[in-house]
Amino acid sequence: MTDLSRLPHLDQALDALLGAVDPNVARILDKALGGGEVSAEEGARLFDADGASLLAIMAAADELRRRVNGDAVTYVVNRNINFTNVCIKRCGFCAFSRDYRQEEGYFLPLNEIIRRAREAWDLGATEVCIQAGLPPKMQGSLYIDLTREIKKELPDIHIHGFSPEEVLYGAVRSKWTVEDYLRGLRDAGVGSLPGTSAEILDPAVRDKIAPGRIGVDQWRQVITTAHRFGIPTTSTIMFGHVEKNAQRAAHLAFIRDVQKETGGITEFVPLSFVHEDSPMWSKHMVSDLRPGATGSEVVKMHAIARIMLHGWVHNIQCSWVKEGPKLAQVLLAAGCNDVGGTLINESISTSAGASHGQLVPPSELRRWIRDLGRLPAERTTTYGIRRTFEVEPEEPERLDIASENAAERFGSYAELIKLEEFRYSGQRAPSLEGPTWTEVRLKRKAAHEPTAAG
Ligand code: SF4
Repeated sequence: MTDLSRLPHLDQALDALLGAVDPNVARILDKALGGGEVSAEEGARLFDADGASLLAIMAAADELRRRVNGDAVTYVVNRNINFTNVCIKRCGFCAFSRDYRQEEGYFLPLNEIIRRAREAWDLGATEVCIQAGLPPKMQGSLYIDLTREIKKELPDIHIHGFSPEEVLYGAVRSKWTVEDYLRGLRDAGVGSLPGTSAEILDPAVRDKIAPGRIGVDQWRQVITTAHRFGIPTTSTIMFGHVEKNAQRAAHLAFIRDVQKETGGITEFVPLSFVHEDSPMWSKHMVSDLRPGATGSEVVKMHAIARIMLHGWVHNIQCSWVKEGPKLAQVLLAAGCNDVGGTLINESISTSAGASHGQLVPPSELRRWIRDLGRLPAERTTTYGIRRTFEVEPEEPERLDIASENAAERFGSYAELIKLEEFRYSGQRAPSLEGPTWTEVRLKRKAAHEPTAAG
């Protein structure tokens, strides 16, 4: 493998590039490469850049990535469990949720949630990522109870679960404070929180795309309280809808401020808006709405995140779900050092129209990484390195084998919302008894197979 990042002429190439671009962009990049902090105003200026300046931004971000992360590109073997799609909110970008009166609402029983977690663990996953809709009249302790039940069965699995919006909902429904609710989650065994429900942390943007969503101050309160209780979180941005460049840069500065205060953020994940089936696009709900970010906007978002968060947030993730494998590879050369997880049951972007599948097996993630001349490494949720792959293992891993008949084995969101067996019928928490996907699948198979009598 050629180690491109260590060739000395790259430094000279970067210097030459900086000498050839807009002097304002060059000055900001020079400052960042010298260890200076890029302000929100300077960040906005970088977002305005194009042409050769874009190349310089990518090269500077790649250099900062190399200094922090070296050649390793990480991934986590995990499974998403979105246990219900029924939600009381109406976020304009969300095609996943269903109103409680709609026919396509589902709510998985506890048996099935635990079966999914166990199956993932048996296939080599170390993490389950649990996020869902906010069902009406939900039992307040649901998230804590669910965590406890999963940990009882699988004590070593990492539960990466419950967005700030969900934590707040759990607290409100329980009539507990956010502090007490987070303490309950921690004591039940939650390992980390997804820093989703952030979108753009600007009240005007939030009012436009998701009125009624968790507020900026509330989001910060949940995240910083989690950190104070020793629960790390990720951090995210959703971009490519109505936001301006200044708001993107201010969002990055906001994340950086949180990290300065607590140090509890493990990674930053830019998530580009998938417009196709989102209500705010299909129902023309929002004026000035863009159909997602362009390729160069996606590249700039990741690269400028690396530049502005340098020294504070060490891991920048690119999402194969949102960007697809080809653009994700480009992003690995523009500041990213992580490709996220195997996911197994990706529903949220798929339901909004993303077309990159619901599972990528580990060997495929490694193939993308190796193709760029970088070193694949499997990590834990909190970025402990489990294994680096100098060469490919001779034997395929369990998840690689299982992914060969993924649709049948793991089901799909499109199928799930049609199944009577998992239909939402007013549950306030997962029912304790209920069929599993394995049982449903066998029953359906038997019903469609001819009997011996013909
Ligand atoms: S983004 Fe979350 S809170 Fe908003 S509608 Fe979708 S599931 Fe509900």
